[in-house]
Amino acid sequence: MTYSHDVLVIGSGAAGLTLALSLAKHAKVAVLSKNALNQGSTWFAQGGIAAVLDDQDSIEAHVKDTLIAGAGLCHEESVRFTVENSKAAIKWLIEQGVIFTKENGTEDYHLTKEGGHSHRRIIHSADATGRAVHSTLIDQVRLQQNIQVYEDHIAVNLITQADTNSRKLRCTGAYVLDKNSEQVHVFQAKVVVLATGGASKVYLYTTNLDGASGDGIAMAWRAGCRIANMEFNQFHPTCLYHASTKNFLISEALRGEGAYLRLPNGERFMHRFDERLELAPRDIVARAIDHEMKRLGCDCLYLDISHKTPDFIKEHFPTIYARCLELGIDITKEPIPVVPAAHFTCGGVVVDKNGQTDLQNLYAIGETSFTGLHGANRLASNSLLECVVYAQSSALQIINSLNAINPPEQSEEWDSTRVTNSDEDVVISHNWDELRRFMWDYVGIVRTHKRLERALHRIELLKAEIADYYSNYKISSDLIELRNLATVAELIIDSALERKESRGLHYSLDFPNKSNIARDTILVPTNFAAQNIVVSIDGND
Ligand SMILES: Cc1cc2nc3c(=O)[nH]c(=O)nc-3n(C[C@H](O)[C@H](O)[C@H](O)COP(=O)(O)OP(=O)(O)OC[C@H]3O[C@@H](n4cnc5c(N)ncnc54)[C@H](O)[C@@H]3O)c2cc1C
Repeated sequence: MTYSHDVLVIGSGAAGLTLALSLAKHAKVAVLSKNALNQGSTWFAQGGIAAVLDDQDSIEAHVKDTLIAGAGLCHEESVRFTVENSKAAIKWLIEQGVIFTKENGTEDYHLTKEGGHSHRRIIHSADATGRAVHSTLIDQVRLQQNIQVYEDHIAVNLITQADTNSRKLRCTGAYVLDKNSEQVHVFQAKVVVLATGGASKVYLYTTNLDGASGDGIAMAWRAGCRIANMEFNQFHPTCLYHASTKNFLISEALRGEGAYLRLPNGERFMHRFDERLELAPRDIVARAIDHEMKRLGCDCLYLDISHKTPDFIKEHFPTIYARCLELGIDITKEPIPVVPAAHFTCGGVVVDKNGQTDLQNLYAIGETSFTGLHGANRLASNSLLECVVYAQSSALQIINSLNAINPPEQSEEWDSTRVTNSDEDVVISHNWDELRRFMWDYVGIVRTHKRLERALHRIELLKAEIADYYSNYKISSDLIELRNLATVAELIIDSALERKESRGLHYSLDFPNKSNIARDTILVPTNFAAQNIVVSIDGND
Protein backbone atom coordinates (compact mmCIF):
# COMPACT_ATOMS: atom_id res chain seq x y z
CA MET A 1 0.00 0.00 0.00
CA THR A 2 1.22 3.54 -0.72
CA TYR A 3 0.53 6.60 1.45
CA SER A 4 1.18 10.08 0.03
CA HIS A 5 1.79 13.30 1.93
CA ASP A 6 3.65 16.54 1.23
CA VAL A 7 6.05 16.02 4.12
CA LEU A 8 6.96 12.82 5.94
CA VAL A 9 8.35 13.43 9.45
CA ILE A 10 10.00 10.33 10.89
CA GLY A 11 9.99 10.79 14.67
CA SER A 12 7.66 12.40 17.19
CA GLY A 13 9.97 14.03 19.76
CA ALA A 14 10.44 17.75 20.33
CA ALA A 15 12.14 18.10 16.95
CA GLY A 16 9.59 16.20 14.84
CA LEU A 17 6.51 17.70 16.48
CA THR A 18 7.84 21.27 16.41
CA LEU A 19 8.49 20.85 12.72
CA ALA A 20 5.09 19.29 12.04
CA LEU A 21 3.30 22.09 13.91
CA SER A 22 5.33 24.75 12.10
CA LEU A 23 4.28 23.25 8.75
CA ALA A 24 0.66 22.49 9.56
CA LYS A 25 -0.78 25.60 7.90
CA HIS A 26 1.15 24.99 4.70
CA ALA A 27 1.33 21.27 3.97
CA LYS A 28 -0.13 17.84 4.52
CA VAL A 29 2.19 16.23 7.04
CA ALA A 30 2.59 12.63 8.20
CA VAL A 31 4.29 12.02 11.55
CA LEU A 32 5.63 8.51 12.16
CA SER A 33 6.44 7.18 15.59
CA LYS A 34 7.76 3.69 16.02
CA ASN A 35 6.02 3.38 19.38
CA ALA A 36 3.54 5.66 21.16
CA LEU A 37 4.06 9.35 20.41
CA ASN A 38 5.71 10.09 23.75
CA GLN A 39 8.25 7.24 23.66
CA GLY A 40 11.43 9.17 23.03
CA SER A 41 14.02 11.12 24.98
CA THR A 42 11.99 14.31 24.92
CA TRP A 43 9.36 13.03 27.34
CA PHE A 44 12.04 12.09 29.88
CA ALA A 45 14.08 15.30 29.83
CA GLN A 46 14.17 16.64 33.35
CA GLY A 47 16.46 19.65 33.73
CA GLY A 48 15.17 22.16 31.19
CA ILE A 49 16.04 24.30 28.21
CA ALA A 50 18.95 26.73 28.03
CA ALA A 51 18.03 30.20 26.77
CA VAL A 52 19.10 33.79 27.27
CA LEU A 53 16.12 35.16 29.20
CA ASP A 54 17.63 37.06 32.11
CA ASP A 55 18.75 40.70 31.81
CA GLN A 56 22.00 39.87 33.60
CA ASP A 57 22.73 37.14 31.05
CA SER A 58 23.88 37.69 27.46
CA ILE A 59 24.04 35.93 24.11
CA GLU A 60 27.83 36.29 24.25
CA ALA A 61 27.98 34.47 27.60
CA HIS A 62 25.80 31.58 26.40
CA VAL A 63 27.83 31.32 23.17
CA LYS A 64 31.07 31.36 25.17
CA ASP A 65 29.90 28.64 27.59
CA THR A 66 28.81 26.45 24.65
CA LEU A 67 32.14 26.94 22.87
CA ILE A 68 34.09 26.08 26.04
CA ALA A 69 32.08 22.88 26.60
CA GLY A 70 32.54 21.94 22.92
CA ALA A 71 36.34 21.88 23.37
CA GLY A 72 37.23 23.69 20.16
CA LEU A 73 34.93 21.75 17.83
CA CYS A 74 31.71 23.79 17.95
CA HIS A 75 30.87 25.64 14.78
CA GLU A 76 30.58 29.15 16.11
CA GLU A 77 28.01 30.20 13.50
CA SER A 78 25.71 27.33 14.50
CA VAL A 79 26.16 28.17 18.17
CA ARG A 80 25.38 31.83 17.58
CA PHE A 81 22.39 30.96 15.38
CA THR A 82 20.97 28.66 18.07
CA VAL A 83 21.55 31.01 20.98
CA GLU A 84 20.24 34.07 19.12
CA ASN A 85 17.02 32.16 18.46
CA SER A 86 16.69 30.82 22.01
CA LYS A 87 14.34 33.50 23.32
CA ALA A 88 12.01 33.14 20.32
CA ALA A 89 12.03 29.34 20.73
CA ILE A 90 10.92 29.61 24.37
CA LYS A 91 8.28 32.19 23.43
CA TRP A 92 6.93 29.78 20.80
CA LEU A 93 6.75 26.94 23.35
CA ILE A 94 4.90 29.19 25.81
CA GLU A 95 2.48 30.15 23.02
CA GLN A 96 1.83 26.45 22.42
CA GLY A 97 0.82 26.21 26.09
CA VAL A 98 3.92 24.90 27.86
CA ILE A 99 3.85 25.89 31.53
CA PHE A 100 7.28 26.66 32.92
CA THR A 101 8.03 27.08 36.64
CA LYS A 102 7.87 30.65 37.97
CA GLU A 103 9.73 32.30 40.85
CA ASN A 104 7.78 32.03 44.08
CA GLY A 105 4.83 34.42 43.97
CA THR A 106 6.04 36.34 40.90
CA GLU A 107 5.39 36.31 37.15
CA ASP A 108 9.12 35.79 36.44
CA TYR A 109 10.29 32.40 35.28
CA HIS A 110 12.58 30.51 37.63
CA LEU A 111 15.91 29.89 35.92
CA THR A 112 18.25 27.23 37.19
CA LYS A 113 21.95 26.63 36.58
CA GLU A 114 23.66 23.55 35.27
CA GLY A 115 27.26 22.42 34.78
CA GLY A 116 29.28 24.57 32.37
CA HIS A 117 26.79 27.50 32.41
CA SER A 118 28.09 30.80 33.77
CA HIS A 119 24.56 32.09 34.48
CA ARG A 120 21.22 30.82 35.64
CA ARG A 121 19.58 30.30 32.23
CA ILE A 122 17.74 26.96 32.31
CA ILE A 123 13.99 27.46 32.04
CA HIS A 124 12.16 24.40 33.31
CA SER A 125 8.90 22.83 34.45
CA ALA A 126 9.94 21.63 37.91
CA ASP A 127 12.05 18.52 37.19
CA ALA A 128 9.86 17.18 34.37
CA THR A 129 10.43 19.73 31.61
CA GLY A 130 10.39 17.19 28.81
CA ARG A 131 7.00 15.89 29.81
CA ALA A 132 5.57 19.42 30.00
CA VAL A 133 6.94 20.31 26.55
CA HIS A 134 6.11 17.01 24.90
CA SER A 135 2.57 16.62 26.25
CA THR A 136 1.77 20.15 25.07
CA LEU A 137 3.16 19.51 21.57
CA ILE A 138 1.33 16.18 21.36
CA ASP A 139 -1.96 17.87 22.31
CA GLN A 140 -1.39 20.56 19.68
CA VAL A 141 -0.51 18.04 16.97
CA ARG A 142 -3.67 16.05 17.67
CA LEU A 143 -5.72 19.20 17.01
CA GLN A 144 -4.28 19.76 13.53
CA GLN A 145 -6.29 18.46 10.58
CA ASN A 146 -3.25 18.67 8.31
CA ILE A 147 -1.16 16.38 10.49
CA GLN A 148 -1.74 12.66 10.23
CA VAL A 149 -0.13 10.66 13.04
CA TYR A 150 0.99 7.05 12.55
CA GLU A 151 1.98 5.41 15.83
CA ASP A 152 3.66 1.97 15.91
CA HIS A 153 5.05 2.61 12.42
CA ILE A 154 8.79 2.14 12.07
CA ALA A 155 10.71 3.45 9.07
CA VAL A 156 13.00 0.80 7.60
CA ASN A 157 14.82 2.49 4.74
CA LEU A 158 14.66 5.75 2.82
CA ILE A 159 13.48 5.75 -0.80
CA THR A 160 15.46 7.73 -3.35
CA GLN A 161 14.82 8.62 -6.99
CA ALA A 162 16.75 10.58 -9.60
CA ASP A 163 15.18 14.02 -10.03
CA THR A 164 13.67 14.31 -13.52
CA ASN A 165 15.15 17.78 -14.08
CA SER A 166 18.50 17.87 -12.29
CA ARG A 167 19.17 14.09 -12.38
CA LYS A 168 20.47 14.51 -8.82
CA LEU A 169 19.34 11.91 -6.34
CA ARG A 170 16.46 13.03 -4.14
CA CYS A 171 14.63 11.48 -1.23
CA THR A 172 11.00 10.66 -1.97
CA GLY A 173 9.84 8.69 1.04
CA ALA A 174 10.47 5.63 3.15
CA TYR A 175 9.54 2.00 3.52
CA VAL A 176 7.66 1.73 6.78
CA LEU A 177 6.71 -1.33 8.83
CA ASP A 178 3.28 -1.16 10.46
CA LYS A 179 4.06 -3.07 13.65
CA ASN A 180 0.44 -4.12 14.15
CA SER A 181 -0.35 -5.49 10.68
CA GLU A 182 3.32 -6.51 10.12
CA GLN A 183 3.05 -5.10 6.59
CA VAL A 184 5.66 -2.82 5.01
CA HIS A 185 4.14 0.19 3.23
CA VAL A 186 5.49 2.88 0.96
CA PHE A 187 5.22 6.40 2.43
CA GLN A 188 5.78 8.89 -0.39
CA ALA A 189 6.46 12.58 0.16
CA LYS A 190 8.04 15.57 -1.53
CA VAL A 191 10.15 16.11 1.56
CA VAL A 192 11.32 13.67 4.24
CA VAL A 193 12.56 14.73 7.67
CA LEU A 194 14.59 12.50 9.99
CA ALA A 195 13.77 13.35 13.61
CA THR A 196 14.51 9.95 15.11
CA GLY A 197 16.57 10.99 18.14
CA GLY A 198 19.94 9.64 19.23
CA ALA A 199 21.82 6.36 19.33
CA SER A 200 22.73 5.91 23.01
CA LYS A 201 21.11 2.47 23.11
CA VAL A 202 24.28 1.24 21.46
CA TYR A 203 25.69 1.17 25.02
CA LEU A 204 24.82 -1.27 27.78
CA TYR A 205 24.03 1.44 30.32
CA THR A 206 22.01 4.37 29.07
CA THR A 207 19.49 6.93 30.22
CA ASN A 208 17.65 6.54 26.89
CA LEU A 209 14.73 4.30 25.99
CA ASP A 210 15.17 1.19 23.83
CA GLY A 211 14.13 3.17 20.76
CA ALA A 212 17.30 5.29 20.77
CA SER A 213 18.86 2.99 18.19
CA GLY A 214 20.16 5.60 15.78
CA ASP A 215 17.67 4.68 13.04
CA GLY A 216 17.80 8.06 11.30
CA ILE A 217 21.59 8.14 11.30
CA ALA A 218 21.79 4.61 9.90
CA MET A 219 19.12 5.27 7.24
CA ALA A 220 20.82 8.49 6.12
CA TRP A 221 24.20 6.72 5.93
CA ARG A 222 22.74 3.93 3.79
CA ALA A 223 21.13 6.55 1.54
CA GLY A 224 24.50 8.25 0.93
CA CYS A 225 24.69 11.08 3.50
CA ARG A 226 27.80 12.03 5.44
CA ILE A 227 27.85 11.42 9.19
CA ALA A 228 30.02 13.45 11.56
CA ASN A 229 31.59 13.26 15.03
CA MET A 230 30.02 9.99 16.16
CA GLU A 231 32.88 9.39 18.63
CA PHE A 232 31.40 12.07 20.88
CA ASN A 233 28.73 10.28 22.89
CA GLN A 234 27.95 12.05 26.10
CA PHE A 235 27.82 9.92 29.23
CA HIS A 236 25.60 11.41 31.90
CA PRO A 237 27.48 11.18 35.18
CA THR A 238 24.48 10.40 37.35
CA CYS A 239 22.03 7.70 36.35
CA LEU A 240 20.28 6.00 39.28
CA TYR A 241 22.00 2.74 40.20
CA HIS A 242 19.27 0.34 41.22
CA ALA A 243 18.68 -3.35 40.50
CA SER A 244 15.07 -2.94 39.40
CA THR A 245 15.19 0.44 37.65
CA LYS A 246 17.28 1.13 34.59
CA ASN A 247 17.41 4.43 32.65
CA PHE A 248 16.33 6.75 35.50
CA LEU A 249 18.33 9.94 35.30
CA ILE A 250 19.26 12.00 38.34
CA SER A 251 19.19 15.45 36.80
CA GLU A 252 22.21 17.71 36.68
CA ALA A 253 19.99 20.33 38.30
CA LEU A 254 20.62 18.60 41.65
CA ARG A 255 24.28 19.47 41.34
CA GLY A 256 23.19 22.93 40.12
CA GLU A 257 21.32 23.36 43.39
CA GLY A 258 24.28 22.21 45.51
CA ALA A 259 24.29 18.38 45.63
CA TYR A 260 27.67 16.76 46.43
CA LEU A 261 29.25 13.70 44.86
CA ARG A 262 30.59 11.31 47.48
CA LEU A 263 32.61 8.10 47.65
CA PRO A 264 31.10 5.11 49.48
CA ASN A 265 32.89 6.34 52.67
CA GLY A 266 31.14 9.72 52.38
CA GLU A 267 34.22 11.65 51.22
CA ARG A 268 33.85 14.29 48.48
CA PHE A 269 36.33 13.83 45.62
CA MET A 270 35.61 16.24 42.74
CA HIS A 271 38.27 18.72 44.01
CA ARG A 272 40.87 16.20 42.82
CA PHE A 273 39.60 16.46 39.22
CA ASP A 274 38.38 20.00 38.54
CA GLU A 275 38.19 23.31 40.35
CA ARG A 276 34.54 23.67 39.32
CA LEU A 277 33.87 20.61 41.54
CA GLU A 278 30.42 19.05 40.96
CA LEU A 279 29.61 21.70 38.34
CA ALA A 280 32.46 20.77 36.02
CA PRO A 281 31.26 19.76 32.51
CA ARG A 282 29.68 16.32 32.25
CA ASP A 283 32.61 14.59 30.54
CA ILE A 284 34.93 15.53 33.40
CA VAL A 285 32.43 14.46 36.07
CA ALA A 286 31.63 11.18 34.26
CA ARG A 287 35.32 10.38 33.85
CA ALA A 288 36.00 11.23 37.49
CA ILE A 289 33.23 8.87 38.62
CA ASP A 290 34.41 6.15 36.21
CA HIS A 291 37.98 6.60 37.54
CA GLU A 292 36.95 6.41 41.21
CA MET A 293 34.67 3.40 40.60
CA LYS A 294 37.48 1.54 38.83
CA ARG A 295 40.04 2.58 41.50
CA LEU A 296 37.83 1.42 44.36
CA GLY A 297 36.26 -1.51 42.50
CA CYS A 298 32.77 -0.38 43.52
CA ASP A 299 29.50 -0.61 41.58
CA CYS A 300 28.35 2.98 42.15
CA LEU A 301 29.11 6.29 43.86
CA TYR A 302 26.68 8.67 45.61
CA LEU A 303 25.00 12.01 44.96
CA ASP A 304 23.92 13.77 48.13
CA ILE A 305 21.47 16.65 48.44
CA SER A 306 20.27 15.75 51.95
CA HIS A 307 21.93 18.88 53.43
CA LYS A 308 19.13 20.99 51.79
CA THR A 309 15.79 21.28 53.53
CA PRO A 310 13.15 18.62 52.74
CA ASP A 311 10.78 21.37 51.50
CA PHE A 312 13.38 22.69 49.06
CA ILE A 313 14.10 19.20 47.73
CA LYS A 314 10.45 18.26 47.33
CA GLU A 315 9.59 21.55 45.63
CA HIS A 316 12.49 21.52 43.17
CA PHE A 317 12.75 17.80 42.48
CA PRO A 318 9.29 16.29 42.98
CA THR A 319 9.72 13.58 40.33
CA ILE A 320 13.15 12.44 41.48
CA TYR A 321 12.06 12.58 45.12
CA ALA A 322 8.94 10.50 44.46
CA ARG A 323 10.65 7.94 42.19
CA CYS A 324 13.53 7.38 44.61
CA LEU A 325 11.13 7.10 47.56
CA GLU A 326 9.21 4.40 45.68
CA LEU A 327 12.51 2.53 45.47
CA GLY A 328 13.21 2.97 49.18
CA ILE A 329 15.63 5.90 48.92
CA ASP A 330 14.60 9.05 50.82
CA ILE A 331 16.76 11.71 49.15
CA THR A 332 15.98 14.23 51.90
CA LYS A 333 17.83 11.97 54.33
CA GLU A 334 20.33 9.85 52.38
CA PRO A 335 22.57 9.98 49.29
CA ILE A 336 21.47 8.56 45.93
CA PRO A 337 23.49 5.69 44.38
CA VAL A 338 24.60 6.75 40.87
CA VAL A 339 26.59 5.49 37.85
CA PRO A 340 27.46 7.16 34.52
CA ALA A 341 25.37 6.09 31.50
CA ALA A 342 25.27 6.87 27.77
CA HIS A 343 23.02 9.88 27.38
CA PHE A 344 23.38 11.98 24.26
CA THR A 345 24.69 11.56 20.71
CA CYS A 346 26.62 14.72 19.77
CA GLY A 347 27.36 13.55 16.23
CA GLY A 348 24.89 12.68 13.51
CA VAL A 349 23.71 13.40 10.00
CA VAL A 350 25.56 16.37 8.52
CA VAL A 351 23.16 19.28 7.94
CA ASP A 352 23.31 22.99 7.28
CA LYS A 353 21.51 25.58 9.36
CA ASN A 354 18.20 24.72 7.70
CA GLY A 355 18.50 21.03 8.52
CA GLN A 356 19.22 20.15 4.87
CA THR A 357 21.27 16.94 4.47
CA ASP A 358 23.48 15.91 1.56
CA LEU A 359 20.48 14.28 -0.10
CA GLN A 360 18.02 16.56 -1.85
CA ASN A 361 14.66 16.93 -0.02
CA LEU A 362 15.97 15.04 3.01
CA TYR A 363 16.27 16.96 6.27
CA ALA A 364 17.53 15.92 9.68
CA ILE A 365 16.75 17.68 12.95
CA GLY A 366 17.16 17.18 16.70
CA GLU A 367 19.52 14.62 18.16
CA THR A 368 19.77 12.75 14.83
CA SER A 369 21.48 15.68 13.20
CA PHE A 370 24.96 17.15 13.30
CA THR A 371 24.55 20.92 13.21
CA GLY A 372 27.94 21.81 14.68
CA LEU A 373 26.32 23.17 17.87
CA HIS A 374 27.69 20.68 20.37
CA GLY A 375 31.26 20.22 19.17
CA ALA A 376 33.14 17.63 21.23
CA ASN A 377 30.74 17.92 24.16
CA ARG A 378 27.18 19.15 24.60
CA LEU A 379 26.54 21.92 27.09
CA ALA A 380 23.67 20.82 29.35
CA SER A 381 20.16 21.75 28.17
CA ASN A 382 21.27 22.96 24.74
CA SER A 383 19.69 19.96 23.01
CA LEU A 384 15.99 20.65 23.45
CA LEU A 385 16.81 24.17 22.31
CA GLU A 386 18.50 22.79 19.20
CA CYS A 387 15.41 20.65 18.49
CA VAL A 388 13.11 23.68 18.45
CA VAL A 389 15.41 26.15 16.69
CA TYR A 390 16.40 23.81 13.85
CA ALA A 391 12.90 22.39 13.44
CA GLN A 392 11.71 25.93 12.85
CA SER A 393 14.48 26.89 10.43
CA SER A 394 13.90 23.63 8.51
CA ALA A 395 10.17 24.31 8.40
CA LEU A 396 10.81 27.73 6.89
CA GLN A 397 13.00 26.31 4.12
CA ILE A 398 10.52 23.49 3.44
CA ILE A 399 7.62 25.95 3.17
CA ASN A 400 9.62 28.04 0.71
CA SER A 401 10.64 25.09 -1.45
CA LEU A 402 7.59 22.85 -1.41
CA ASN A 403 5.76 24.26 -4.43
CA ALA A 404 8.77 23.83 -6.69
CA ILE A 405 9.21 20.12 -5.87
CA ASN A 406 7.69 17.63 -8.30
CA PRO A 407 5.60 14.88 -6.71
CA PRO A 408 7.55 11.62 -6.47
CA GLU A 409 7.06 8.84 -9.01
CA GLN A 410 5.37 5.69 -7.72
CA SER A 411 7.92 3.58 -5.85
CA GLU A 412 8.15 -0.18 -6.00
CA GLU A 413 6.31 -2.04 -3.28
CA TRP A 414 8.39 -3.77 -0.58
CA ASP A 415 9.24 -7.28 -1.74
CA SER A 416 8.81 -9.90 0.99
CA THR A 417 8.29 -12.89 -1.30
CA ARG A 418 11.75 -14.33 -0.70
CA VAL A 419 11.82 -14.22 3.08
CA THR A 420 10.32 -16.53 5.66
CA ASN A 421 9.29 -16.24 9.29
CA SER A 422 12.25 -16.57 11.59
CA ASP A 423 12.50 -19.58 13.82
CA GLU A 424 15.57 -18.35 15.68
CA ASP A 425 14.88 -14.97 17.25
CA VAL A 426 17.67 -15.74 19.70
CA VAL A 427 20.07 -14.45 17.02
CA ILE A 428 18.56 -10.99 17.47
CA SER A 429 18.51 -10.96 21.26
CA HIS A 430 22.00 -12.44 21.53
CA ASN A 431 23.52 -9.95 19.06
CA TRP A 432 21.68 -7.03 20.67
CA ASP A 433 23.20 -7.92 24.09
CA GLU A 434 26.65 -8.69 22.73
CA LEU A 435 26.88 -5.46 20.77
CA ARG A 436 25.87 -3.25 23.69
CA ARG A 437 28.23 -5.05 26.07
CA PHE A 438 31.35 -4.72 23.90
CA MET A 439 30.50 -1.12 23.04
CA TRP A 440 30.40 -0.39 26.79
CA ASP A 441 33.61 -2.29 27.54
CA TYR A 442 35.69 -1.32 24.48
CA VAL A 443 34.25 1.96 23.19
CA GLY A 444 33.05 3.54 26.48
CA ILE A 445 34.15 6.50 28.59
CA VAL A 446 37.88 5.73 28.36
CA ARG A 447 39.20 4.17 25.12
CA THR A 448 42.38 2.59 23.74
CA HIS A 449 43.35 1.94 20.15
CA LYS A 450 43.61 -1.79 20.75
CA ARG A 451 40.15 -2.03 22.30
CA LEU A 452 38.66 -0.04 19.43
CA GLU A 453 40.25 -2.44 16.94
CA ARG A 454 38.83 -5.38 18.87
CA ALA A 455 35.40 -3.77 18.76
CA LEU A 456 35.73 -3.19 15.01
CA HIS A 457 36.57 -6.82 14.44
CA ARG A 458 33.51 -7.91 16.41
CA ILE A 459 31.20 -5.49 14.64
CA GLU A 460 32.27 -6.86 11.27
CA LEU A 461 31.26 -10.37 12.33
CA LEU A 462 27.98 -9.14 13.78
CA LYS A 463 27.13 -7.13 10.69
CA ALA A 464 27.63 -10.17 8.46
CA GLU A 465 25.35 -12.24 10.66
CA ILE A 466 22.70 -9.53 10.78
CA ALA A 467 22.85 -9.01 7.00
CA ASP A 468 22.33 -12.71 6.45
CA TYR A 469 19.38 -12.70 8.83
CA TYR A 470 17.94 -9.55 7.22
CA SER A 471 17.95 -11.05 3.73
CA ASN A 472 16.39 -14.37 4.74
CA TYR A 473 13.74 -13.55 7.33
CA LYS A 474 10.73 -11.28 7.62
CA ILE A 475 11.66 -8.01 9.24
CA SER A 476 10.56 -7.05 12.71
CA SER A 477 11.15 -3.86 14.70
CA ASP A 478 13.82 -5.67 16.78
CA LEU A 479 15.69 -6.66 13.65
CA ILE A 480 15.41 -3.15 12.16
CA GLU A 481 16.80 -1.64 15.37
CA LEU A 482 19.58 -4.21 15.69
CA ARG A 483 20.66 -3.60 12.09
CA ASN A 484 20.74 0.15 12.76
CA LEU A 485 22.58 -0.27 16.07
CA ALA A 486 25.27 -2.28 14.29
CA THR A 487 25.63 0.49 11.71
CA VAL A 488 25.90 3.28 14.28
CA ALA A 489 28.27 1.19 16.41
CA GLU A 490 30.56 0.86 13.40
CA LEU A 491 30.30 4.61 12.73
CA ILE A 492 31.25 5.33 16.36
CA ILE A 493 34.21 2.93 16.26
CA ASP A 494 35.44 4.24 12.89
CA SER A 495 35.20 7.83 14.12
CA ALA A 496 36.97 7.01 17.39
CA LEU A 497 39.77 5.27 15.47
CA GLU A 498 40.22 8.31 13.27
CA ARG A 499 40.64 10.67 16.22
CA LYS A 500 44.25 10.47 17.35
CA GLU A 501 43.86 12.77 20.36
CA SER A 502 41.71 13.23 23.47
CA ARG A 503 39.13 15.98 23.20
CA GLY A 504 35.82 16.61 24.93
CA LEU A 505 33.92 13.34 25.26
CA HIS A 506 36.54 11.27 23.43
CA TYR A 507 39.27 10.17 25.82
CA SER A 508 42.01 7.82 24.61
CA LEU A 509 44.75 6.44 26.85
CA ASP A 510 46.96 6.12 23.74
CA PHE A 511 46.49 9.76 22.76
CA PRO A 512 45.86 11.58 26.05
CA ASN A 513 46.64 15.08 24.74
CA LYS A 514 44.52 17.47 22.74
CA SER A 515 45.86 18.17 19.26
CA ASN A 516 46.56 21.79 18.26
CA ILE A 517 44.29 21.37 15.27
CA ALA A 518 40.57 20.95 15.90
CA ARG A 519 38.92 18.86 13.18
CA ASP A 520 35.53 17.20 12.81
CA THR A 521 35.49 13.50 11.97
CA ILE A 522 33.42 13.30 8.83
CA LEU A 523 32.64 9.83 7.50
CA VAL A 524 31.78 9.64 3.83
CA PRO A 525 29.71 6.66 2.61
CA THR A 526 30.87 4.72 -0.45
CA ASN A 527 27.65 5.71 -2.26
CA PHE A 528 28.30 9.40 -1.61
CA ALA A 529 28.43 10.27 -5.27
CA ALA A 530 28.25 13.18 -7.62
CA GLN A 531 24.47 12.86 -7.43
CA ASN A 532 24.49 14.28 -3.92
CA ILE A 533 24.18 17.91 -3.12
CA VAL A 534 26.92 18.70 -0.63
CA VAL A 535 25.79 20.88 2.22
CA SER A 536 28.17 23.21 3.93
CA ILE A 537 28.58 22.23 7.53
CA ASP A 538 29.69 25.65 8.62
CA GLY A 539 26.14 26.51 9.42
CA ASN A 540 25.58 28.51 6.27
CA ASP A 541 25.54 27.47 2.69
C1 LIG B 1 16.64 11.15 30.62
C2 LIG B 1 17.01 12.29 29.71
C3 LIG B 1 17.04 13.59 30.21
C4 LIG B 1 17.35 14.65 29.38
N1 LIG B 1 17.30 15.94 29.87
C5 LIG B 1 17.49 16.98 29.03
C6 LIG B 1 17.32 18.32 29.49
O1 LIG B 1 16.99 18.57 30.64
N2 LIG B 1 17.52 19.32 28.58
C7 LIG B 1 17.87 19.10 27.29
O2 LIG B 1 18.03 20.06 26.52
N3 LIG B 1 18.03 17.83 26.84
C8 LIG B 1 17.83 16.79 27.68
N4 LIG B 1 17.99 15.51 27.20
C9 LIG B 1 18.27 15.32 25.79
C10 LIG B 1 16.99 15.61 25.00
O3 LIG B 1 15.90 15.12 25.72
C11 LIG B 1 17.03 14.96 23.63
O4 LIG B 1 18.22 15.31 22.97
C12 LIG B 1 15.86 15.44 22.79
O5 LIG B 1 14.65 15.23 23.48
C13 LIG B 1 15.84 14.71 21.47
O6 LIG B 1 14.65 15.03 20.82
P1 LIG B 1 14.38 14.43 19.39
O7 LIG B 1 13.09 15.00 18.95
O8 LIG B 1 15.57 14.61 18.55
O9 LIG B 1 14.25 12.85 19.64
P2 LIG B 1 13.33 11.99 20.63
O10 LIG B 1 12.59 12.82 21.60
O11 LIG B 1 14.20 10.92 21.17
O12 LIG B 1 12.27 11.36 19.65
C14 LIG B 1 12.64 10.43 18.67
C15 LIG B 1 11.41 9.95 17.98
O13 LIG B 1 11.75 9.21 16.82
C16 LIG B 1 10.95 8.05 16.74
N5 LIG B 1 11.68 7.10 15.91
C17 LIG B 1 12.96 6.69 16.03
N6 LIG B 1 13.28 5.84 15.05
C18 LIG B 1 12.18 5.71 14.28
C19 LIG B 1 11.88 4.97 13.11
N7 LIG B 1 12.77 4.17 12.54
N8 LIG B 1 10.63 5.07 12.59
C20 LIG B 1 9.69 5.85 13.17
N9 LIG B 1 9.93 6.58 14.28
C21 LIG B 1 11.15 6.51 14.81
C22 LIG B 1 10.73 7.65 18.17
O14 LIG B 1 9.62 6.81 18.26
C23 LIG B 1 10.52 9.01 18.80
O15 LIG B 1 9.21 9.44 18.59
C24 LIG B 1 17.68 14.42 28.03
C25 LIG B 1 17.67 13.12 27.53
C26 LIG B 1 17.33 12.06 28.36
C27 LIG B 1 17.32 10.67 27.81
